[in-house]
Amino acid sequence: MTHQNYIGGKWVPAADGATLEVIAPATGERIAEVPASGPADVDAAVEAAAAAFESWRRTTPRQRAELLDKVADAIETDMETLRALEVDNVGKPVSIIEFEMDLTVDNWRFFAAGARFLDGRAAGEYLEDHTSYLRRDPLGVIGSIAPWNYPLNMATWKLGPALAAGNTVVLKPSELTPLTALRLAEITADILPPGVLNVVTGLGETAGDALVRHPKVAMVSLTGDVETGKLIARNAADTLKRVHLELGGKAPVIVFDDADLEAVVSTLAEAGYYNSGQDCTAPCRVLAGPGLFDSFVAELSEAAAAVKVGDPHDPDVAMGPVVSADQLARVEGMVERARASGAEVTVGGRRREGPGFFYEPSVVVNPAQDSEIVQREVFGPVISVQRFSDEDQALAWANDVDYGLSASVWTRDVGRAMRMSAALAFGTVWVNDHIPIVSEMPHGGFKQSGYGKDMSIYAIEHYTELKHVMIKH
Ligand code: NAD
Repeated sequence: MTHQNYIGGKWVPAADGATLEVIAPATGERIAEVPASGPADVDAAVEAAAAAFESWRRTTPRQRAELLDKVADAIETDMETLRALEVDNVGKPVSIIEFEMDLTVDNWRFFAAGARFLDGRAAGEYLEDHTSYLRRDPLGVIGSIAPWNYPLNMATWKLGPALAAGNTVVLKPSELTPLTALRLAEITADILPPGVLNVVTGLGETAGDALVRHPKVAMVSLTGDVETGKLIARNAADTLKRVHLELGGKAPVIVFDDADLEAVVSTLAEAGYYNSGQDCTAPCRVLAGPGLFDSFVAELSEAAAAVKVGDPHDPDVAMGPVVSADQLARVEGMVERARASGAEVTVGGRRREGPGFFYEPSVVVNPAQDSEIVQREVFGPVISVQRFSDEDQALAWANDVDYGLSASVWTRDVGRAMRMSAALAFGTVWVNDHIPIVSEMPHGGFKQSGYGKDMSIYAIEHYTELKHVMIKH
């Protein structure tokens, strides 16, 4: 099927007619074509969004909330199609996809409600004969650039808060997984006024870059790789636009000797290989205490070997392919280099022969702290395990990465859990769990995992400008 861009409420091909192929990672076959947009297409979308902003910004919170709630209804009604697109385009097993689809609907409902709860902290007379109050104004046109790992959910994290706050949006989904963003535009065409949501597909270095540099875009929001974030921050600096960055992660999982071993292993066997490990919060870097290290490695390796890998349409399959041939080569290369530098691969450590981009759930034991597999995001089904000697070393190693998105601590000692949560430099810290998220709580990084929060009321605030109004009387 050949798709078109959605600009100003109309479906249009790329100005020069160029297209990109969309591939199903489970088979390696082409499933669709989408526009390979360039600066002219992005410009048309930004102009449409800028025109729509003039009336959208004047809608009341209640009006926006009612429309965003209708978007949630439309997603629920269209769930079967959206789910099928995500399974085919990302290779997500049907057995795991419910969680993110449910979260997506809940996110839209949360942002609908959040539209009505924006406030300024104070109003009063801070100067004699003057009254001050605070307003939260929308910014204007937001350029939203999404990754491929949770296409519809990441689009939601960008669109929901932006629209709730009264902005209009040009969304560029990942070139690898654009299909649910286009479907979202289709099912909301009768709900959102023309130009409020525009979807332009294409490559990052062309369509994405044009959005980042466009002078009428007030803010650019990226979820993606750290290097992409740095490039976008540099390119956005010429027009001094705001930048909201949700980047990579390398989550430490600190397992103390008093942890509930069974609970850690079962959580990791699921969460570590969930979405084929292509999750920015994936529990991928275990630091295990000396007392349980050997039994932990044995049990995790056994659990990883039991993860059923295969056709995402099979309800018994827990893990599908990684998203592309490039991603498969990246995962393979990183594991090979870890092995070559002396780490032991106790399970997996190879791609699966046959069509599609499959890699086996893997455990890499005893890599050095300064090795690539510990320091860099793999974004594949690979968990590394290191042995620490005491709490100080566990904390030092956990914090010793450029990333700072999420971490978990496993212990029955409340005092230690409190100390570690305070000292870990990560945007989310779980204690005795890893990965659950909720609409009400912020998700976002410290350090090179980026800045700005997704979900929660803080995300909506990011898409506003705080204005002080002072009245003399
Ligand atoms: P990516 O950086 O390759 O691409 C992300 C998006 O940026 C794509 O739409 C791409 O087309 C666009 N892009 C690339 N170069 C660009 C440029 N020069 N200008 C403008 N846009 C450009 O990332 P990816 O491989 O799609 O996604 C995986 C990454 O996303 C991982 O690092 C992962 O950790 C991260 N991620 C982070 C979060 C989070 O919440 N922090 C969530 C999901 C994924």
